[in-house]
Amino acid sequence: MKTLERTLAIIKPDAVRKHAIGNIIEQLERNGFHILAMKILEISKHQAGQFYAVHAHRPFYNSLTDFMSSGPIVVLALERENAVADLRKLMGTTNPADAAEGTIRKRWATNIEQNAIHGSDADESARFELSYFFAGYELTG
Ligand code: GDP
Repeated sequence: MKTLERTLAIIKPDAVRKHAIGNIIEQLERNGFHILAMKILEISKHQAGQFYAVHAHRPFYNSLTDFMSSGPIVVLALERENAVADLRKLMGTTNPADAAEGTIRKRWATNIEQNAIHGSDADESARFELSYFFAGYELTG
């Protein structure tokens, strides 16, 4: 039996500013990701810092949290077989200069920081990240 996995995606402020929400959601659905829950919201720099706490020691943390709190974002709880790894493939590499054709970052990212989309990097981070933005009752899908 194949098992469904859940992962969290964020359409980042740069992609929202480019009016790419619809295009990115269309690409997610076309690739078989089921949207369990979705919301558009703005987060504070403090909240961005909590979400990206694993990067607190990185030189780009301050700039990253400024960016992530610079405008609306769309958070999506996604479900699919192999959702975590396959969303990462569909996103493309962190630096869009290296991203493969057909990936979301290749088409929409501006640079290594303003790179259009976030996707959880492992099952454990997906659990933390989903619970950061969604309550259990919102994920009944
Ligand atoms: P991801 O899993 O591909 O999103 O990449 P990481 O987990 O390594 O980094 C998290 C986010 O921090 C990235 O998506 C970028 O927005 C940002 N970031 C990563 N590396 C850099 C960097 O070298 N410089 C800057 N300014 N931002 C970065």
